[in-house]
Amino acid sequence: MQTPSSIELLLRERGVRMRIGVAEAQQALAAALINANPAVERVGLSEAHGRCLAEDIHIGHSLPPFANSAMDGYACRHADLQQTALQLIGESRAGARFVGQLGAGQCVRISTGAMVPDGADTVVIQEDTTRSGDQVQVTQIPRIGANIRLKGEECAAGTRLLKRGLRLDARGLALAASAGRAQLRVVARPRVAIISTGDELATPNQPLAAGQIYDSNATLLHALLLEAGAHPLPSQATADDPQRLALALQGAANSADLLITTGGASVGDHDHMPQLLAQHGCVHFWKVRMKPGMPVLFGEFAGKPLLALPGNPVSVFISFRVLAQAAIQAWQGLVPADPVRWPARLLAPLRKTHARAEYLRAVYRVDAQGQLWVRPLLAQESHRSLSLMQASVLLNLPEGPIDLPAGAIINIEPLFQAAQAETDWE
Ligand code: AMP
Ligand code: MG
Repeated sequence: MQTPSSIELLLRERGVRMRIGVAEAQQALAAALINANPAVERVGLSEAHGRCLAEDIHIGHSLPPFANSAMDGYACRHADLQQTALQLIGESRAGARFVGQLGAGQCVRISTGAMVPDGADTVVIQEDTTRSGDQVQVTQIPRIGANIRLKGEECAAGTRLLKRGLRLDARGLALAASAGRAQLRVVARPRVAIISTGDELATPNQPLAAGQIYDSNATLLHALLLEAGAHPLPSQATADDPQRLALALQGAANSADLLITTGGASVGDHDHMPQLLAQHGCVHFWKVRMKPGMPVLFGEFAGKPLLALPGNPVSVFISFRVLAQAAIQAWQGLVPADPVRWPARLLAPLRKTHARAEYLRAVYRVDAQGQLWVRPLLAQESHRSLSLMQASVLLNLPEGPIDLPAGAIINIEPLFQAAQAETDWE
């Protein structure tokens, strides 16, 4: 057991929750950020991708809005198909219908998406006909009604296409467009400030001096925030200097709804976040019983919630995913669904002796029988960002020792699928 540092003792004395479990940290964050009445704004379809819908989208017309052809061919009456040939009397094109009535023994040239002429009940595909002048011979008789998409067969006028609370993706946006909507009411996104801290940080594109590394966390967080539906503000990098750090936080607090910092959150001599918040803000909790990501701190600065993540890139990725993502959704009035989990078998025995929850980077494969197999990657240290890139799934190991034989079933969480969220407004 390590001796607690003076800042740990101070925060403990103040009753700050320390070394809490993952679930308790998640609850504290969601409770602090939850927004029962998120602001709503109106945006164009091209701006709405990834946004959370703040209204139900109903369609004013049926889908399809009119009976139309599913194929290129000839519209006719099924009853006439025993005849030797049909007489071609005109054309119905997509966007330009045939005007008139189709009578006995007649047919109309028709293209995909074109209105079915009055009187026709079947479309014969082009491939099943031969044509000579205005005489069309049918070589293969289809069933009655073939190749016609009926008016309203997908939905009736007034149907709700999209539900309030949905996170808009390409499919949802296209449906809104097909209902004739050009603008949608969406929930405002939390503006999140990103501040990387560390004397060693260089900006990508600048030469690296001895002892420096490039700041990759700013980019990581920017992308993670976009994926989580937040609005990341331009990031800033700050040295390990309390005054400059306080200035950067103050500036960020003026324009952001949430501040996220990386680095300097632990107990090292140059880790200033805990002390700074203890002096100039407040600390809700410090340290979560998880690996990686243990030194996470959550508090407030200048009245704004602040999540201080450790500096190691894998810790940033995991603690964002485990703690921040759901809180950002709570801010938008969403109740995050549980992450997608699939049962898989362990390729080799798995042992954990420490007490904390652990998130292992792993890869999976599917065997010929369709069974999923999973193997944790060898490199699990929190600075190993290459193995983060290599991983296709995470193993979420609960607190306490674990000793599983090869072949044991364990849940895997795919890394290539963002968590879905649902609304609790209904
Ligand atoms: P810290 O949490 O400040 O002790 O940093 C832990 C480790 O993460 C150190 O090796 C840092 O150099 C590294 N680190 C800190 N910030 C960043 C960053 N923005 N990008 C990449 N690595 C970082
Ligand atoms: Mg540091």
